[in-house]
Amino acid sequence: MSYLPIQHVLKTLPVGTEVTIKGWVRTKRESKNAVFIALNDGSTIHTIQAVAETGQLPEDTLKLITTGACLAVTGLLVESQGAGQAVEVKIASIQIYGPADPDKYPLQPKRHSLEFLREIAHLRPRTNTFSAVLRIRHALAFAVHKYFNDNGFYYLNTPIITASDAEGAGEMFRVTTLDAIKPPLNEEGKVDYSQDFFGRETNLTVSGQLEGELGAMALGKIYTFGPTFRAENSNTTRHLAEFWMIEPEMAFFELEDNMNLAEDFVKTVIRYALQNCADDLAFLDNRLKEEEKTKKKEEQSDMGLLDKLQFVISNEFVRLTYTDAIDILVNSKPAKKGQFQYEVSWGVDLQSEHERYLVEKHFKKPVILTNYPREIKAFYMKQDEESNAAPGPTVRAMDVLFPGIGEIIGGSQREDNYDKLVARMQEVGIEPEALWWYLDTRRFGSAPHAGFGLGFERLVLFVTGMGNIRDVIPFPRAPKTAEF
Ligand code: ATP
Ligand code: MN
Repeated sequence: MSYLPIQHVLKTLPVGTEVTIKGWVRTKRESKNAVFIALNDGSTIHTIQAVAETGQLPEDTLKLITTGACLAVTGLLVESQGAGQAVEVKIASIQIYGPADPDKYPLQPKRHSLEFLREIAHLRPRTNTFSAVLRIRHALAFAVHKYFNDNGFYYLNTPIITASDAEGAGEMFRVTTLDAIKPPLNEEGKVDYSQDFFGRETNLTVSGQLEGELGAMALGKIYTFGPTFRAENSNTTRHLAEFWMIEPEMAFFELEDNMNLAEDFVKTVIRYALQNCADDLAFLDNRLKEEEKTKKKEEQSDMGLLDKLQFVISNEFVRLTYTDAIDILVNSKPAKKGQFQYEVSWGVDLQSEHERYLVEKHFKKPVILTNYPREIKAFYMKQDEESNAAPGPTVRAMDVLFPGIGEIIGGSQREDNYDKLVARMQEVGIEPEALWWYLDTRRFGSAPHAGFGLGFERLVLFVTGMGNIRDVIPFPRAPKTAEF
């Protein structure tokens, strides 16, 4: 028999329909007269209740109906007597697909810590929290493609194995088919990559941007949405070794257009989640409220998850230059009281504590910082004309900073002047010959263009209100973490 998702049964089927539902047992409860089984199939946060009269089910069948077991239940959809659900299934027959030994099945119905659930990442999608996160993740991914399609962008697939390092300093995973213990050596005694699969050194991509720019210089507006890899040993709640990045790249866009796009884009996909994931967001909103109650009063957030999402889509992001932000930070209370862990002055790369001060304490809104010092940004960013406002050379960079997350988007207008770009590469020690194909876009029909990168998991983190990026991707990759 075909599969009828519980989501569909609860939403659309009238009382009196005969149904067969299939799913995993969340709980079984027995009263004097009846046995109640809560079934969930992951199509929705809601369970459906199936009810049998006491004595109706054979004892050996009843014994196998335990949390985690998978069943098919056939019966009539009837109005529910109990609170909390409109309909339930009056059981006519039950088929047990697969039992789950209660002494061994780790997901018993009680509160599990997120840390414990990470150790059983193969089973955690069966919990309410993770199934909600994964359904929202799906909706956001769909919204991303929809947004770009609706706005005339083409989806461009950039390579996962590359010979280039987009940032010039990324920590990359090497890709090789050479023997790890005894690789062939050249005359200088170094590993001879000419004998490797591609005949050269290759890595997993850290960003699709450089190839994305090639697309923009041919198709106008493109975006990538694919996996990126960074072997950075940062054990934070915001970094993964494997994450999904969305990188739009647009010909004829300048910094201002880039900012407008970034703001409209994140607001639109968040709005999509609010409209299409109401039940899951309500569940997570509630979960967060419960969690907040366990915190000290001064650490409690005054906004719930839904409030926060509404707030972001209905307020304009604050836009200011890095130089102005430094002014605010230098004159801030925590700076004067020595409460920042890292010192702040013009030229430093902002730490997460600084970004969060600006967003959460000072402006209390998402912030777009622009025109960063050239020395702390990548070689491809467009150099600003000298300005007396900034004490040193700046580039047309923009970072979008979000509450609780810090940097969610990093982008810039790109340097389109061939000579300036080559000079900058030489200054930072990147051989122009190695990126001859990239430079060709500036040699043939160069044009102003811009783009940005959004870490998809940081967006999911924000929308779900989860605290750790490892809990918004099904199978996280992080230092010493690659079990599943
Ligand atoms: P951060 O300072 O937070 O490490 P970054 O400056 O290295 O970020 P970019 O190289 O600009 O980030 O990458 C673009 C976007 O990709 C970031 O704005 C962020 O959303 C996301 N991102 C970067 N590194 C990671 C990571 N290790 N895990 C998940 N997302 C990431
Ligand atoms: Mn980083």
